[in-house]
Amino acid sequence: MSNATTLIHSIPVDPLTGSISVPIYQTSTYVQEAPGVNKGYDYARSNNPTRETLEKIIAQLEGGKRGSAFASGLAAIDAVVKLLQSGDEILAVDDIYGGAFRLFTHIYAKFGIKVNYTDTTDVVNVIDAITPNTKLIWLESPTNPTLKISDIAAIAKIAKQNNILLCVDNTFASPALQRPIELGADLVIHSATKYLGGHSDLIAGLVVSASEEIGEQIKFIQNASGAILSPHDSWLVIRGVETLGLRVKQHCINAQRVAEYLEQHPAIDKVFYPGLKSHPNHEVAAKQQSAFGGIVSFTLKNDTEEAAKNVVCATKYFKLAESLGGVKSLLCHPATMTHKSIPAEKRQSAGVADSLIRLSVGLEEVEDLIKDIEQALQKANTSAEIAAII
Ligand SMILES: *Cc1c(COP(=O)(O)O)cnc(C)c1O
Repeated sequence: MSNATTLIHSIPVDPLTGSISVPIYQTSTYVQEAPGVNKGYDYARSNNPTRETLEKIIAQLEGGKRGSAFASGLAAIDAVVKLLQSGDEILAVDDIYGGAFRLFTHIYAKFGIKVNYTDTTDVVNVIDAITPNTKLIWLESPTNPTLKISDIAAIAKIAKQNNILLCVDNTFASPALQRPIELGADLVIHSATKYLGGHSDLIAGLVVSASEEIGEQIKFIQNASGAILSPHDSWLVIRGVETLGLRVKQHCINAQRVAEYLEQHPAIDKVFYPGLKSHPNHEVAAKQQSAFGGIVSFTLKNDTEEAAKNVVCATKYFKLAESLGGVKSLLCHPATMTHKSIPAEKRQSAGVADSLIRLSVGLEEVEDLIKDIEQALQKANTSAEIAAII
């Protein structure tokens, strides 16, 4: 794992001036001494020193060879898919991020790239779902919003035996908690919009490659397709990295407390948090992560959309919004927000019940957060009572 000292000192002092903060090179082009004679930079889509600093930092933090910074997490995912060719297949985790599902289904299907989904928490399912055309295995661990965990090392082994690339979306854990390349992954992607940025103030994506060769291909795609991260947003992600260790540590402490509180609450049906002994993949999570992250999901005994809506509209500190991983606590109702486009039956069979609520536990005093949830949950009871009367 990347500890606080590694994280803070992964950020270099500017060799030119000694500036302790990384300079923002807000430029489109670089003056050349003669045609083709330059200082290693010719055009800012291809290379920018601020972006390049972030790319080196993330490569180091994930233990990879090369990093590439993109305009969003989805642009990072898109770049990885572009390693493939028409006729190739992706084998993906069934509880995949909705935006990745949309990209695969509505963009890449028409270019002849097929995606098969399986429950990757069971390694046997992965073995069974591989076809001769499978060229990429796509994992998220933990997943969104039911926090499923897949055994990255075991699946990496299977991928290697079959000559298949393994890419892990490490957004929920961040390199502070989990380093998939050390577990055998070929590629890691991040929505740096979340924990790496950490302040809910930017959209950014990162790809890290375990080998120089794949790193070169991703860099070629980055320049050829052009979805680069701006110098200013690169700087914001770098600044986020400085406090990533401290933030994530506290997110985990707060989330564990909130999860334990919810687990004993009479209005709650299920709590999804890999740090709970009751989580079906707790052991695997404990093996591959140094702690369990800041996201907690739960369902209500009164499993209705109405009850969940009453709760999410009643919190004061947990703000109702999509996204996660920032300093401020957020909550959302996937059935009517992030997962709205998935048919109800498919959504429910994936564990996203009508009353499921996802918390991104922030850095406020945890006692205040628990009090906030306590008073909001009374609204769920009220709703149940009303329903009983009607
Ligand atoms: C948000 C998110 C993405 C997409 O990232 P954007 O920065 O919003 O494009 C991808 N994967 C996961 C797990 C996410 O949470």
